[in-house]
Amino acid sequence: MNYQSVLERIAEDVAPQVGHGTPAEYIPALASVDPHRFGMAIADVDGNVYGVGDWRQPFSTQSITKVFTLALALAHGGDDLWERVGREPSGNPFNSLVQLEYESGIPRNPFINAGALVVTDRLLTLTGDASRELLEFLRQECGNDRPSFDTEVAESESAAGSRNAALAHFMASYGNIANPVPTLLDHYFWQCSIEMSCADLALAARFLARHGLRADDSRLLSRSEAKQINAVMLTCGTYDAAGEFAYRVGLPGKSGVGGGIVAVVPGRCTLCVWSPGLDEQGNSVAGVAALDRFTTLTGLSVF
Ligand code: GLU
Repeated sequence: MNYQSVLERIAEDVAPQVGHGTPAEYIPALASVDPHRFGMAIADVDGNVYGVGDWRQPFSTQSITKVFTLALALAHGGDDLWERVGREPSGNPFNSLVQLEYESGIPRNPFINAGALVVTDRLLTLTGDASRELLEFLRQECGNDRPSFDTEVAESESAAGSRNAALAHFMASYGNIANPVPTLLDHYFWQCSIEMSCADLALAARFLARHGLRADDSRLLSRSEAKQINAVMLTCGTYDAAGEFAYRVGLPGKSGVGGGIVAVVPGRCTLCVWSPGLDEQGNSVAGVAALDRFTTLTGLSVF
């Protein structure tokens, strides 16, 4: 497979859609990003990386980090986590409060904000410093120190963070948050603020294509746990458009409101695409189109 020429063809094909959609507006520091940016990278299981466009440009990873905190919480603490968070699509926006009340403070899945707060809370208990643990892991997996916290984004999220605070306090009232809510929120906002390029994200996510093996060949997750994370990405990773994403792309994927999407071809490669214009559900318009083109051109999907 000539990944480089596939990427170049995709960039040409999706060019008319780059700039469509709107960058996330509810986090002020993200609203000012140029929607005309587009980058895409592929890392194969051997660690070779291919890219096109702005593939080396760092961007705000946002909810993509939820995949990595989930992997770390499972790696450190095992299956207990699933008593506190479910594995079903929510069918509601990522920051919705409604289900939490009638489902007794147990979030539907680890990729909506409520679920991610529970996962970060667990990682905080297990490690004492969830956001630092995450950053170090990302740096190790992509083999460089470029992944970093973005103070402006973290502060912007904290200032605009009433809804996440509400989610955390609400779950705490059901006993589903173990740490003080302000400490948890700090770790969550730092986690979301991490900036990385498509190249580094594709490299860092390779354990999902390598059935749980890290870049240094040590085991992070069992084969079965890696399968489980990929499955939850497929069913819940792209907000309340996961059905449409599975239909169009046919790969496990996780998006973030910074306009990035990470996708996995188990056993073969990981992909990361970035373009800040979002559709109504919060997924990158050109990003979904590019992944759709990838599976159509290559026939590489899980189906
Ligand atoms: N930091 C964002 C929030 O908590 C993450 C949202 C996202 O990328 O889905 O609202």
